[in-house]
Parts: sequence; structure tokens; C-alpha cells
Amino acid sequence: MKSLDATLQAALDERRQQHLFRQRVNVASGCGPVLVVDGQSLINFCSNDYLGLAGHPDIAAALKSGVDTYGTGSGASHLISGHSVAHKKLEEQLAEFTGRPRALLFSSGYMANMGIINALVGRHDLVLQDQLNHASLLDGGRLSRADFKRYKHCSLSNLQAQLEQSSASRKLVVTDGVFSMDGDIAPLSEISAIAAEHSAWLMVDDAHGVGVLGATGGGIVEQQNLALEQVPILMGTLGKSFGTFGAFVAGSEVLIDSLIQFARSYIYTTALPPSIACATSASLKILTEEQWRRDHLNVLIKRFRLGGQQIGLQLMASDTPIQPVLINDDARVLEISQQLRDKGIMVGAIRPPTVPQGSGRLRICLSAGHSEQQVDQLLEALESVGA
Ligand SMILES: *Cc1c(COP(=O)(O)O)cnc(C)c1O
Repeated sequence: MKSLDATLQAALDERRQQHLFRQRVNVASGCGPVLVVDGQSLINFCSNDYLGLAGHPDIAAALKSGVDTYGTGSGASHLISGHSVAHKKLEEQLAEFTGRPRALLFSSGYMANMGIINALVGRHDLVLQDQLNHASLLDGGRLSRADFKRYKHCSLSNLQAQLEQSSASRKLVVTDGVFSMDGDIAPLSEISAIAAEHSAWLMVDDAHGVGVLGATGGGIVEQQNLALEQVPILMGTLGKSFGTFGAFVAGSEVLIDSLIQFARSYIYTTALPPSIACATSASLKILTEEQWRRDHLNVLIKRFRLGGQQIGLQLMASDTPIQPVLINDDARVLEISQQLRDKGIMVGAIRPPTVPQGSGRLRICLSAGHSEQQVDQLLEALESVGA
């Protein structure tokens, strides 16, 4: 029998040969428009800090004062003694922000998705997901022991056909609001109508929409004007636009009470540090009040797309801050991202299995923290490396 290391080494070698090997960079600065890596300053086009809040001084001050009040750790899970008044206050603020009766905090988006899906469906039920949903939703579906199916990306007819075939008593349809690797937006009002027609429940993961879409940053449900009845389960994350950490789900009283009782990833884990909740409360205030951040971000998105078309980039159909540039060839994706690094620009090199085979891409993320000039520098660099 081969040893553990010999077996694993073979798999690592294979991954490297396929140009799919992943490496971490060690960032010496905080998250902002410029990152310092190995002593080099790089313009940061790979964070999900869409509103430029991850380094905001008021949010940092709220975190520090939270530490002064509550210390560093929550010390226990929410159901034991880890649930502080700071968590309670933030949940009330998130309920108000989303216009929903209640909200519940989770320690991360990954855990929220695992917990929500598993609390709502089990054996003999159906969970039906967009094929490009985030890994945490797909993993949650697999773990649930429900009949787990995927429908073609944003295909209403395929969704409809699969719902028609099911006789399960509980049916859960799950979609990303904004798709994380493509940047496109789910046709949510159509999806919600189809779900309602088949008495299926609809869950939306709006990790990339909250803060960015909608007149007050309420995300995809605000943008598409959808009520609680149409999207009963709304999940959002706090590590992206909010610039802090954690996640939430917003919905009815009964939904939240049920998740507190049955979501295992809520129950069996240490509560977020209360100071993080304090920071997120400060962030929520800025996120809703400072409309200029969304306006500026939209200016940058338009500028990038217009410039990208002029230099012949293979852009995707995205109006969001996620702007992928298709390269297709995985070795070439790596090569180009390295050449961009040499020019002082950092972008994500996204390859399978994160995206389907043959669709390797640069994933460019714009932020309200960027200047127009930085976007122009990006375009110039992309042109000069022949992306
Ligand atoms: C980032 C992300 C998550 C995971 O959230 P974390 O808080 O980072 O664990 C879940 N869903 C989507 C669509 C995401 O983009």
C-alpha cells in the first residue's frame, strides 16, 4: 500500500501539471485598493470589498470599542452564552435593512448555506439548484440527503421541467443572486413565479448583491422589487460589501425560529466575536447612507466595460463589479496573471474546478475604493499583455 504522502504527492503533481495548482500570496497590508505583496505594491482587483469598506476607519473604531466592551472572543455558541446584545442589535438592524421581520447571524456564509439548506430539507425532499451556484450551496445540497438536482444556468424552462417531475412534499429552489464567477444576475422574479407555481420554496444567496444592487444597497430583492412572499429565504454575507465578517439570513419569524432550533452550523459553533457585530453595525450605517459609493462603483463598471470593448477583451454579460475576462486556456490564465503582477496589478486567475473546464478566466473585481485612473491602468496593462 502506498503511504499517505506518496498518494497525496501524486495528486499534487497531477494538479500542477494541469496548471491548476493554487498558491497563496502573503499580503503585508490590509485590504484596500492597493495591496503590498513581497514588498511590491499591487493595485488590487481581486477582493470582494465592493464598497471599499474593509479598511474604513469608523468601522475599525467600532471594532476596537467592541473589543474594549466585550473582549476578543464570544466564548461559546449562541445557544449557550455566546449571544451578546451586540449580536441582537445587529440582527435587528439587518431585519430593518432587508425589510423583513427577523434576521439571524451566522459565523460565515459557507456555514449559513450549509445550515439553512440542511434545516429546511432532508430525505425524500427535493433541492434544486442553479448549476453555477456557489460551492457552499452545492455542498449544503449534497449533505442534506434530499434529492439534489441542478438546473441549467438561469434556465427557466429547465427549472420548470425539473419541478414538474418532482412529487416531493418539500421542494427548495436555490440560486445565487449575482453569480460569483460570471457576475451575471439571476432572473429572480421569473424564478420566484415558477417556484410559487410548483409550491416550491425559494432561497437566494445574495453574497455579491447586498450593498451593491438596489437603491439603498438592499441587493437583488430590492433591485427587482421582490417581497418576502416571493423570496422567503434571503441570505447575505458580511465579508464582502460590508467589509467585515460573517453572514446573515433574513425572513419570517417562523423561519428564523426554525433555523435557531435546527441549523446545525448555527448551533454547534462558537458565536462570532461580538466586536465583529459592532463593526458590522457601523458598516451597515455607511453602506446604506453613502450612496456615492454605489454611484462611483457603477461609473467604474461602465468605464471598464467600455474600455475593455475598445481593446477587444472577451468580457462577459455582467453589469456588476465582477467583470470576468475569458481566457479559456488554463496555462495562459496563469501566465497573464503573472505578467499583470509584474506590471503592478493583481487579479484572480480562476481555473477549474471553480469554473467549468475550458473556461479559465481573469476575475476582475471593481471597488468603490478604486479611482478611474486605476481602472485605466488596469485596461492599459490588459492590453499590453494581450489578454
Ligand atoms: C463568498 C460567498 C459565500 C461564502 O461566504 P463566506 O462568508 O466567505 O463564507 C457564499 N456564497 C456566495 C455566493 C459567495 O460568494
